[in-house]
Amino acid sequence: MHEYSVMQQLIAALKEELKKKGIERIKEVKLEIGELTFLGKNQLSFAYEVMTKDTFLEGSELKVVTVGAEVKCDECGYQGGIEYVDDPAFHYNIPVISCPDCKNKPRIIHGKETTIVGVTALRDDQNE
Ligand SMILES: [Zn+2]
Repeated sequence: MHEYSVMQQLIAALKEELKKKGIERIKEVKLEIGELTFLGKNQLSFAYEVMTKDTFLEGSELKVVTVGAEVKCDECGYQGGIEYVDDPAFHYNIPVISCPDCKNKPRIIHGKETTIVGVTALRDDQNE
């Protein structure tokens, strides 16, 4: 599953960062994912739970926030969200990455990122 390989990298980076800061216990990790990553929130949470088991991250919670995509069109200057079409052949919504105004291919500014935006640390004297 794609979510597993993404989560594996994120946890490795997270551990590294926490080690650098001397943080040994955390309560919560906040993760932002762009809507164009097509990662499932539930799958990510599940992967996090499985992979942090028996590590110092065990018991902490992963909060996933989806960030909308934003594109910029160099042709007409459009900047904003992307459109979706309901394709009956695939039975799901696929994003159309083209400018809604001039149909040119825009640049993707946001939507593909997977970023840890915050970590809530637990102090030693806190149990919850
Ligand atoms: Zn355009």
